[in-house]
Amino acid sequence: MAAIPSSVSSGCSQEIDWNNLRFGLTTTDYMYVMKCSKDEEFTEGQLIPYGNIELSPAAAVLNYGQGVLEGMKALQREDGKFVLFRPVENALRMKTGAERMCMPSPSVDHFIDAVKQTALANKRWIPPPGKGSLYIRPLLLGTGPTLDVSPAPEYTFLIYATPVRNYFQEGSAALNLYVEDQFDRASRGGAGDVKSITNYAPGMKPKISAKNRGFSDVLYLDSVSGKFVEEVSSCNIFIVKDKTLLTPPTKGTILPGVTRKSIIEIAQDHGFKVEERQIAVEELLEADEAFCTGTAVGVVPVGSVTYQGKRVEYRISDTKSVCSMLLSTYIGIQNGQIEDKKGWIVEIS
Ligand SMILES: *Cc1c(COP(=O)(O)O)cnc(C)c1O
Repeated sequence: MAAIPSSVSSGCSQEIDWNNLRFGLTTTDYMYVMKCSKDEEFTEGQLIPYGNIELSPAAAVLNYGQGVLEGMKALQREDGKFVLFRPVENALRMKTGAERMCMPSPSVDHFIDAVKQTALANKRWIPPPGKGSLYIRPLLLGTGPTLDVSPAPEYTFLIYATPVRNYFQEGSAALNLYVEDQFDRASRGGAGDVKSITNYAPGMKPKISAKNRGFSDVLYLDSVSGKFVEEVSSCNIFIVKDKTLLTPPTKGTILPGVTRKSIIEIAQDHGFKVEERQIAVEELLEADEAFCTGTAVGVVPVGSVTYQGKRVEYRISDTKSVCSMLLSTYIGIQNGQIEDKKGWIVEIS
């Protein structure tokens, strides 16, 4: 009979293999939980050991998908600081989502404080500089029971965290996108512009099908005309044409990404013209460059797009592309090598 080695439970971070992180769940030590009833406000939450939660079978989130999520990252920098990137934006987006899904939501300050607490409680899981980040996932769920389709009588704000590295298997290599012309991600008047949990399961089928055919992900078109580019399953898209950046406007069907917003500002600071307007598929096919943005994926170049059997490849240059230039500024601000003049960085320690 093997004795249990005492090192197993000692939990020093030396035991974590930082070189083999993926974008997958590694359970960490603590999660933050806070509850409130329908007519109350969120007041006080607490950190508890990470684990399963108990729910009524009639919970609104289980039966009707009343829930929103967020995704953000805590980084450890070379200068020893632990930082978050623009957490106010995530807090505000959760509020907008909560409103859309008829839920109460924590205040911006409360949200940020809870995120900081969760990151600090799981500090040993924050990868060393350059090895990845602690992905933080705030959830707001209708956990009270409801039989008819109406808002839950009770809500839970929960935050868990997990160390991650690259989202795509490709790492930072270029993505091969399949332009999806059968399935839509979001419809006019729907909830495509909030991080509603209801938006993601319908995308699994087209994504798996594209992956099985060798693509990295799908690029969705607008559901009204099927002619205009919207976004990828979990990231926004930009194209570059003659030194102008183009990205579709986030008017109802596209998720307003924090990375998208930041890249727009960084590009403008670098003197690029940025247009938020509809992009026809033909324009995508004729672009000089295309790239995707998101907290989980980062800023990744698109190597090819395939639309109705036609594959177009983009010229990828590691150093000279607009994408790589914007990426290095974005990363530089996050890791402290470029001065943060915009107040985007929030220290947690
Ligand atoms: C989260 C998400 C994004 C990216 O948003 P970020 O704030 O940049 O992480 C883009 N599209 C979809 C559908 C998303 O869920």
